[in-house]
Parts: sequence; structure tokens; C-alpha cells
Amino acid sequence: SPITPAVTRPEGVRVRPLPRVIGADVPVPVRDGRHVPYANFDYAASAPCLEAVHEAVTRALPYYSSVHRGAGYASQVTTSAYEDAREAVRSFLGAWRRSAVVFTRNTTDAMNLLAHAVPAGTSVVVFESEHHASLLPWKRAVRLPAPATPAEALSAADRALRSCPIGSRLLVVTAASNVTGELWPIEELAHVAHRNGARIAVDAAQLVPHRPLDMTALGLDYVAFSGHKLYAPFGAGVLAGRADWLRAAEPYLKGGGASASVGETTRWAPSAEQRHEAGSPNVLGALALAAACETLSPAWDDLAAREEELVERLRSGLAALPRVRELTLWGERAPRVGIVSFTVDGWNARDVALTLSEEHGIGVRDGKFCAHPFVRHLLGEDRSAVRASIGIGTDEEHIDRLLTALAALTAR
Ligand code: PLP
Repeated sequence: SPITPAVTRPEGVRVRPLPRVIGADVPVPVRDGRHVPYANFDYAASAPCLEAVHEAVTRALPYYSSVHRGAGYASQVTTSAYEDAREAVRSFLGAWRRSAVVFTRNTTDAMNLLAHAVPAGTSVVVFESEHHASLLPWKRAVRLPAPATPAEALSAADRALRSCPIGSRLLVVTAASNVTGELWPIEELAHVAHRNGARIAVDAAQLVPHRPLDMTALGLDYVAFSGHKLYAPFGAGVLAGRADWLRAAEPYLKGGGASASVGETTRWAPSAEQRHEAGSPNVLGALALAAACETLSPAWDDLAAREEELVERLRSGLAALPRVRELTLWGERAPRVGIVSFTVDGWNARDVALTLSEEHGIGVRDGKFCAHPFVRHLLGEDRSAVRASIGIGTDEEHIDRLLTALAALTAR
């Protein structure tokens, strides 16, 4: 059953129940033939769906219809729900009223859209510690080594941007690492970028499921994230940010919707959203993603406090296991979200992950997490790690089960 943790509040203050996910404890088979409640530690890959998201999609289904061009009532209802979803995302991100909010397939798609839209000759600077989705889409980019401290991230970005040729410049950086969970100093990096006449694009795929983000307050020019990591289904993501480059670029996909008029020549739609959302959009995906945004926003304080307790329990438990080593770029005290990667001396990561699944019903991820240069940097060689990431359905029993299983495994 879903978990509603006790939250200590001053008397008289109403305690709002925390959002709940579907399938937090779904039964899964283990090797001895039993079924046990699933302990999902793979939220960073894809998070289970929120009950509120399921309800929102169910409410939308009777009006399931085409958007933008249909005259029928259901089309009008669906069109307005789709555009409301865009506004819900704008408000979730604290995006400026006039910025573009383009629905994409996911973060990878959003970053590729931005790479497609940057003006020719733009100098792009990116850290090698990025997820491949943010590392690879650029035609040419200056790659900076993973910095040894957050301060070094600022000075390295400053130096690199300062020495870029005259012209447009873009700094690309993650808000929270998908490998170590560590939080990057995005506000300070935005200052560094702007001081050097550059824009900043933030990969928020791993931040927004854990913490609020305010683009305007932080001074971020672009933000990308994925719905399926934010407790909504696969297939919808977002690129939000300054509209000018997007409005000036050729459509990302060419076809209906992106064109304003087609004759001997084609005139493309002037708005960034229309121009880059050609074809019939993923309306239900957008509504689901927006429902997740609207569900999480009022709950951030409680969710973040709850997550901190759980991460502390997990990390202190792992630290007590002699053969387990946590991966960290900036040290064990660096602030982070609920993502912890580790190696186990004497074990390869795949065997650890399979043993946890087959013997204990625990779902972790093993590998290099689509961040090959970063994992190589952290481990000093071409090895894989195990990643345990937590979210809204995680509880103490899941964490204790993981720690007990690892203790048994390391004692073998
Ligand atoms: N960026 C980060 C930091 C990620 O963790 C991920 C997914 O793991 C991505 C980008 C890519 O997300 P998607 O696969 O939804 O495009």
C-alpha cells in the first residue's frame, strides 16, 4: 500500500497528504518462488506514475480528440487542455511569460531541438560529466573536464566562455547529476554565462523530480526535462526558454502545424511552439506531464524533507558497509538529490544488480548511466557502477531491505 509518512507540524496546521504513485509495492517474483513487494530504486531512469496523473488522463479521455485544427466541441476542449498544460509547465518552471514552452518527446529530444536551433557558429561549452543527452547533440563543443569543486566549475566555465570567438555562446550544464545526484551551482553558472555574453541551457531531468526550479529567479535561458522521470508516462518532455533562436530556426520537424502557408515557397509558423511541434502532438503525454507538475508544486517542502531523511538513511547505511564505495565528484557532504551510485569491491555491478533483483525483489540499475566519460572519470577505469535512486514511493522498508541485501552480498 502507498506510504503517507508522518510530517511533524505545529498544531492546527493542516497536513496535506503527500502525492502517491501507482505500483509502489507491486508484487514481484524472487528466486525461491515467493512474491515480494517490489523495492524500486530506479526512479532516476523512469519514475512510476502518480495517482493524480492517472486521474487527470482518465478525466481527459472522454474528450480525446485532435488539437488546434478541429472545430468540434471535443477538439476545442482538448485544444484548451493542451494549451493549459503548456501554461502549467511554464508556471512549474517559473518560466518568463514570453518564453517558449515546447513539448518534445523527452530531454534528449529537447536538447537536440536546442542544438538544431542555435544560430550557426554558436560556441557551445559543456562539461564532460554531462549525460550523453546533453553532451552529444552539439555539432562542435568545447568539452571541459569534470571539475574538482563547484568553484572550479565556475572558473573553468568562465575561462572557456571568455576565450570563445565573437558570436553567440551557450553553456550547457546539468542541474543534478544522474550519476552522483550532486547539485550543480546553476545560478552561479548562469551569472558566469551572462557575464560572458553567453546563454545557459540546463538539463533538469534529474532535478525537477526532486526539487522546485525557478528559471526566472535563477536566470536560466533554457531548461529541458522528461515527463517519464517526473511521475508521468513516457513520450512527453519539455524545452522551455528564450523564444528568439527557436523562432528563427527552421522547424525541427517539417510538416503540418509547423507551416503557416504552403505554395511555391513555404512560410513557417512564427511561434516557436507551432514551428517545432509539427505533426499531431502527444496531447495525453502533455496533459499527464502537466498534471505531474501541478501535483508536485504544492508538495515540495514535504517531499524534499522526506527525501532527505531517506537519502540520509541510505547513504549512512551504505557508508557502514566495508566493501561498498559511493561515487562522488565533490565529496560526501556535497548537497544532492536522491540518487546514489556505488561499487562493491570484488563484485561486478551487473552481478550485484541481478542478485538484488532475483533474491530480494530490489530494482537498481547498473552500468555507466549514459554518462561514459563521467563514470570513467569517477572510477578511474572502464568499469560500471550500481545506482540506487529513490522517489515518492520509497519508504524505510525498501531502504533497509537494500542495505540488508548488500550486507549479505558483501559477506559472501
Ligand atoms: N539528462 C539526464 C541528467 C538524465 O538523467 C537523462 C536520463 O537518464 C536524460 C538527460 C535523458 O532523458 P530521456 O531519456 O528522457 O531523454
